[in-house]
Amino acid sequence: MKQRTVLISGAGVAGPTLAYWLSRSGFEPTVVERSEGQRSSGNPVDVRGGAMEVAERMGVLPRLREAATSVSGLAFVDASGRRVGRIPVGKADGTELEVPRADLAAVMHDAARERAEFVFGDSITALRQDAAGVDVAFATGAPRRFDLVVGADGLHSAVRRLVFGPASDFMRHLGMYVATLQLGYPADDPSTVLMYNLPGRSVSVHPVSGNAMAAFIFRSPAIAGLDNRDTAACKQIVLDAYGDGGWELPRLLDRVRAADDLYFDSVSRVRLPSWSRGRVALLGDAASCMSLFGNGSSLAIAGAATLAGALGAAPDDPATAFGAYEAEHRVRVRPTQRGRLIAGALLVPASRGGIAARDLAVRVFGQYSAPAAA
Ligand SMILES: Cc1cc2nc3c(=O)[nH]c(=O)nc-3n(C[C@H](O)[C@H](O)[C@H](O)COP(=O)(O)OP(=O)(O)OC[C@H]3O[C@@H](n4cnc5c(N)ncnc54)[C@H](O)[C@@H]3O)c2cc1C
Repeated sequence: MKQRTVLISGAGVAGPTLAYWLSRSGFEPTVVERSEGQRSSGNPVDVRGGAMEVAERMGVLPRLREAATSVSGLAFVDASGRRVGRIPVGKADGTELEVPRADLAAVMHDAARERAEFVFGDSITALRQDAAGVDVAFATGAPRRFDLVVGADGLHSAVRRLVFGPASDFMRHLGMYVATLQLGYPADDPSTVLMYNLPGRSVSVHPVSGNAMAAFIFRSPAIAGLDNRDTAACKQIVLDAYGDGGWELPRLLDRVRAADDLYFDSVSRVRLPSWSRGRVALLGDAASCMSLFGNGSSLAIAGAATLAGALGAAPDDPATAFGAYEAEHRVRVRPTQRGRLIAGALLVPASRGGIAARDLAVRVFGQYSAPAAA
């Protein structure tokens, strides 16, 4: 019997995980990734809950444990660097892990590479579907036809734009921007993220795994016409936002000036009424980004396994399979508005009073467990 072909756009966290599970369900997956190779973006993300079970069934848990950071706490510092409070993060019992995103993507890619075709340095430019399949055009490769297409191409998904409509229909700016940058040196304390706040702004240094990373998260209305691939413009926005601060900011801003690989994006939520149209479906951040304060990486992994399972159960009936996937996975991603607001207030207080109140609360309720964050 002919194997069904599935084109997956995006080799981040969700794409390779889906490729692995689809191949185990008897499909023939192809993954197309815009970047030339695995991206080096090192922001740490969480693997927890159902994603841990999926990783265990893939046999990748030992590698994820090796790649995991050893962070156990987040300390707030004042302008002189004095620690004013510390809260625990993650779980010390190994039931959840914090892994640099690029390492997580690489581990999932390694698990899937023998089971799927991977095409790096290309992307989908057009999709046309009929009752029997999807014709796909690529930026550089020759056109091809697939039985199904899945967009696992992140917050700014091309598949979503081509099939469902413009980003503005589904994305909501949550009033913040984030910039991250590898510092190229180890942090003094590998177990603690340090965070310094100014009103409406936070800057943190995460030890990651020997290559510390700075994250700037700041409140701002949507900046009209901003292209986040325009590194010079993004650097200037960060420099303007943080010019007046203490702690290590002068040194970190020097790093921003010298950087050629600053990650910069809006903190946004993605919400769609339906995750599929005919033979095309969405997965991961493309379908349901919860912002960096959400649980996006774990949801991407759990969603990939659910989608592959649903397709395996109804390989010739995409409507039924996509419906089952959505019914099961939507329950997990239902927006946790309250959690996001708490995380925003805790990590990026809007005023000096808010920072003081947060620091007091952290000293009093020091065992408060922090929501997922950069
Ligand atoms: C600063 C920051 C901190 C975060 N912290 C956390 C955290 O603590 N915990 C947590 O759970 N989550 C966190 N997240 C969110 C997490 O990274 C995402 O939810 C997760 O990576 C989603 O996986 P994905 O596979 O859907 O998308 P991604 O991992 O973004 O992968 C999408 C892939 O698609 C590729 N792509 C994009 N466009 C195209 C195209 N046109 N054609 C082909 N390929 C394309 C991209 O290059 C990328 O490889 C954070 C995110 C950021 C930015």
